[in-house]
Amino acid sequence: MGELRMIDSKLIDTHGRAHRDMRVSLTDRCSLRCTYCMPADFAQWIPSAELLTTDELMTVLRVSIEEGIDEVRLTGGEPLLRPDAVDVVHRINALPKPPRVSITTNGLRLAAQAGALRDAGLERVNVSLDTLDRDRFKAMTHRDRFDDVIAGLAAAKAVGLAPVKVNTVLMPGVNDDESVTMLRRALDEGWRLRFIEQMPLDAGGIWNRASMVTAERILDDLSQAFDLTPVPVRGSAPAEEFFVDGGPETVGIIASVTRPFCGNCDRMRLTADGQLRNCLFARDELDLRAVLRDETLDEASIEAEIRRRLHVSVEAKLPGHGIDDPSFIQPPRPMSAIGG
Ligand code: SAM
Ligand code: SF4
Repeated sequence: MGELRMIDSKLIDTHGRAHRDMRVSLTDRCSLRCTYCMPADFAQWIPSAELLTTDELMTVLRVSIEEGIDEVRLTGGEPLLRPDAVDVVHRINALPKPPRVSITTNGLRLAAQAGALRDAGLERVNVSLDTLDRDRFKAMTHRDRFDDVIAGLAAAKAVGLAPVKVNTVLMPGVNDDESVTMLRRALDEGWRLRFIEQMPLDAGGIWNRASMVTAERILDDLSQAFDLTPVPVRGSAPAEEFFVDGGPETVGIIASVTRPFCGNCDRMRLTADGQLRNCLFARDELDLRAVLRDETLDEASIEAEIRRRLHVSVEAKLPGHGIDDPSFIQPPRPMSAIGG
């Protein structure tokens, strides 16, 4: 559910949208190979020398906060593969006017790190889990790590990173029969479940508009077992929320493809190699790494140029992602290298 926030953002685009949320990819590498995200043999990793250092990242975030960013979500790839992920959270919380910090993770390292992340100031965690069946998990991710995700979810709850949100992508003929069982388990465990429509952002190009599992189909299936009523306030949140059996529990649907929510978008993205994007589906990026590493610039000039590029990026933002436009072309970077 969207929450009202009070900080004024200076990052307002030509369609009147104020930008307050930055999705930061900490690495493009991953410990799973979810079939809708990257092929099993994917190996086109960003060279380490091109990844932003934590000092560079803090410079970008410090300027972004001054311009109105008040929420940072750490993602990837798998953000917890970054060796200093806990320190990144800690350092963001030590910035002037620290934003709220959350993380989207596959959960594999969460059991080991949940306590340290909470102590570093992490506010919330989203864990991705697409199936409750161990064999299916292995088939869908090419790794036999189902138990690690469940342990990670339990650890997040145990240290008080609650309510844990769980993200689920349904794929046709693979796990599209699990929406009801996933929701039952979520209600039992206290997870806030959100189904994400599969998007055309995978490195393998397997997305198919005709066969994808739509929000309508998911809602139809859930309605066979539960009474769903829309939660009235949505704000800039990507998920449409529904009370389950009168609430207070909810289930969310992120229907980026069939019910786009671009009109209220408040998100910007920073890739692990320091490229600024104004949309998940953007084809253009602005290079912040080059600015950060420009030896002809002093610190004040670097910050001024980053500030300028933040505004240039926001001003160039299109009204919508245009997936349904016949001229839509999938961005060259896969989701794992953008930061989902
Ligand atoms: N590795 C972390 C994880 O899986 O949570 C963070 C990065 S992942 C790219 C972020 C989210 O994007 C996950 O919930 C994942 O399920 C989702 N995702 C990845 N590829 C997708 C696609 N093609 N369509 C829809 N969601 C996708
Ligand atoms: Fe890794 Fe997340 Fe992509 Fe799965 S969805 S392969 S966990 S980045």
